[in-house]
Amino acid sequence: MRKLLLPMFFVLALFAFNKSMLHPELHQKWCSVCGMNLAKFYKTNHLVVLKDGKQMQLCSMHCLAQVYPHIKDKIAKIMVVDAKSGKFIPVQNAYYVVGSSVPGTMSMQSKIAFSSIDDAKAFQKKYGGKIMRFDEAFALQRKMFAKEQAKIAHKQKKMAMMGKILYKKHCKKVDGEFASLAKLKEHIVKNHLCNLQGKKLQAVALYLWQKQHKKHIHVPKDAKCPVCGMFVAKHPRWATMIVDEEGRKLYFDGVKDMMKYLQNHKFKRAYVSDYYSGEAVDATKAYYVLGSDVYGPMGKELIPFKSLQDAKSFLNDHKGKKILRFSQINKEVLQELE
Ligand SMILES: [Zn+2]
Ligand SMILES: [Zn+2]
Repeated sequence: MRKLLLPMFFVLALFAFNKSMLHPELHQKWCSVCGMNLAKFYKTNHLVVLKDGKQMQLCSMHCLAQVYPHIKDKIAKIMVVDAKSGKFIPVQNAYYVVGSSVPGTMSMQSKIAFSSIDDAKAFQKKYGGKIMRFDEAFALQRKMFAKEQAKIAHKQKKMAMMGKILYKKHCKKVDGEFASLAKLKEHIVKNHLCNLQGKKLQAVALYLWQKQHKKHIHVPKDAKCPVCGMFVAKHPRWATMIVDEEGRKLYFDGVKDMMKYLQNHKFKRAYVSDYYSGEAVDATKAYYVLGSDVYGPMGKELIPFKSLQDAKSFLNDHKGKKILRFSQINKEVLQELE
C-alpha cells in the first residue's frame, strides 16, 4: 500500500503545482540533449544562449550538466524557468528549491527555480527541500550526474530496443548524421518518416541515435575476466576488451584488470567503455582518472573517458588525483590501486 500511495502523492503534488504554470516559452519542441518533450517538463527547463547566438533549450539541470563540459567556453548566458511566472530568468537571479517532494526531471532530486526568495520560501513550506543559489545547486547536480546517468542510460537502452522494433514496423528509412537528438526528431517529423508520437517517437529516436553515435563493447554472456575470473557481462559499463596477437577477443571487468594483463601480454587492439556514455573507446587514446571516489567491481579503478574535458570534470566532481594516458599506466600506478 505504501508503495502505491507514495507515487500517488507525487502525481497529485505535481498536478497541483503544474496548474500554476503559465504559457511555456518554447524555442524548440524537444530537449537538445535527451530528446524529451520540453513542454511536459517545462517547470525545470533551462535555456543556454551561446556566444554565437545559438540557443539550446534543455529539459533539466541534469541535461545541462551533461552538455556543460563540452560548451562551457562558448556560453553567453544560462537561463532557467521561474516556476511562478513561467518566464525565463538568468540563473544568477534564481533561488532553487532542491530536493522537494515535487518529482525531479531526469534527477532523483528536483530543482525548482524562482526569481523571488519569497516565492521559493512559500514553495518550500508546501513541498519541502532546501533553498540554494545556482552555483550550489549545479555543483550538487554535477556530483550526482554520473549516478543518475547510469540509471538513465539503462532506461534509454531498454527504450531503444523497443524503438528498434517500432522503427522496422512503422518508419521509412532515416538517413544522415544529426547534431542532437532533438534535431533527429525534427528531421523525422518534418519528413513524415514515422507515423509515431510521444514515447514511441522518442524510442525510435533513441534507437537511431545510439546506433549512429554509440558503439558499445558487446560482452558474451560466458566471457570471464582472465585476471580475476568474474563474469564480465554482469558489469557491462565497466567492460574492456582486447584483441590479442592471435586475433582472440578477451574481456575484462575494468581497466585495472586489463592493464594488469597487458603488463606481460601483447595486443593488437584494446577498447574501454567511456564512463559517461558507455561508448567503446580506443584504449590507447582514452583519458584515465586515478584516485577518484568511484569504485568498480574490482574496487579502486582507473575511470576511462573519451574526452579530456569529461575526464577533467569527473576528476573535479569525484576527488580524482590525476589524469593519465594509456602509456603512463605502469606497475607503480597499478600498485596504487591495490
Ligand atoms: Zn533533457
Ligand atoms: Zn577481473
